[in-house]
Amino acid sequence: MKNNKKMSLATKILLALMFGVVFGIVANMFFAKTLNDDLSKWILTPVGNIFLRSIKMLVVPLVLCSLICGTASMGDIKKLGRVGIKTIVYYTVTTAFAITLAMFFANILNPGLNTGINLLSVNENIKATQPPFIMDIFVNMVPVNPFKSLVEGNMLQIITFSILFGVAATMIGKSAEPVINIVKQINEVLLRIIGIVMEFAPVGVFALISKVVMSQGAAVLIPLLKYLGTVVLVLIIQAIFVYGTALKVLAKVNPFVFFKKFWTVMVVAFSTSSSNATIPVSLEVCEEKLGVSKSISSFTIPLGATINMDGTAVMQGVAAIFIAQLAGGDLTVHQMLLVVLTSTLASIGTAGVPGAGVIMLSMVLQQIGLPLEGVALVLSIDRLVDMVRTVVNVTGDAAATVIMASSENELDLAVYNDIKVAEVEVI
Ligand code: ASP
Repeated sequence: MKNNKKMSLATKILLALMFGVVFGIVANMFFAKTLNDDLSKWILTPVGNIFLRSIKMLVVPLVLCSLICGTASMGDIKKLGRVGIKTIVYYTVTTAFAITLAMFFANILNPGLNTGINLLSVNENIKATQPPFIMDIFVNMVPVNPFKSLVEGNMLQIITFSILFGVAATMIGKSAEPVINIVKQINEVLLRIIGIVMEFAPVGVFALISKVVMSQGAAVLIPLLKYLGTVVLVLIIQAIFVYGTALKVLAKVNPFVFFKKFWTVMVVAFSTSSSNATIPVSLEVCEEKLGVSKSISSFTIPLGATINMDGTAVMQGVAAIFIAQLAGGDLTVHQMLLVVLTSTLASIGTAGVPGAGVIMLSMVLQQIGLPLEGVALVLSIDRLVDMVRTVVNVTGDAAATVIMASSENELDLAVYNDIKVAEVEVI
């Protein structure tokens, strides 16, 4: 543990984010395009990618090991079943709530009216994408070959296999302990590697953010500003009020402490746009700073990063109304209920990687008979929306983790309430 005399890693990451935004704006407005292209090609893209790849390299082994440890360390099948069901119910309910909130605000703010956009004119941009069939989400959860799932990084399949592995080890008991111990030790090593990689986070975050801001500029935003504004507003409400209230009411803890300690992870989510890439840091913060026991967090965080996407659901809810309005109509109550149902399923099936949510949007639109051209339209600013919704996706997972830990009496309140812990480096 390092002392807080030096600037903490969390502060460095936040500063890097701010410098990245400012630098990106300056470069976009004042630098020649060729200079920006060169900067991006020779420095920002490679540096950003090295950081992203170093985190991503840990995701598959970490999800496998931490879920096996998490499931096995529950100790008995009853507890596992209880926590599993509670977590999945909670994740589903908050997601459905998020979409409802999104549609409520979209219906009030009407982002699709008077935008000057003609939906039919974006026609040529859309490729004939075949929306996924809803039931395939469930079928594809079961791997045919778990090694193939690992190689391909198919998270839902890895989760199914790891949970089954952990459950079976628990059933065997004593004689399976050596295997579980090895997995635990590998897990420790992986967590240490994350500590090393995170030392480079400020540089990586700077590169990723300045590149996005530099290349997007403000022009792309204007026609879609109402859509962007509505999504961001609902995302903020979901993150601060919904999770804040859930933490206060269900876990009886101070939500400000949660946000104060968790924002480093939010910055990582914002700059990587990937729930998967955030798993390592999120695990670390939940265990070391928020006082959640390993057995809970190593189960709920990887699971949440894969199936719990409230931010993505918010985007889909607003986008459905937005596109319906652009197409010249409003959704009926029946269609809205269908959006709640399909978006909840779609967000479960959305991979925790950049841009995945907007692909699943095609499934939602198809279910309610809206034109798929809408996807092409929201795609133009999806890079920005993705950053914000990923923050909400991972915040929802961590809030749920604290709530589950508290309900199982596995939340160390002394650590949670110790503000000093927020200032101390994780490694
Ligand atoms: N980027 C999001 C995530 O990783 C998924 C999405 O595109 O909505 O959480």
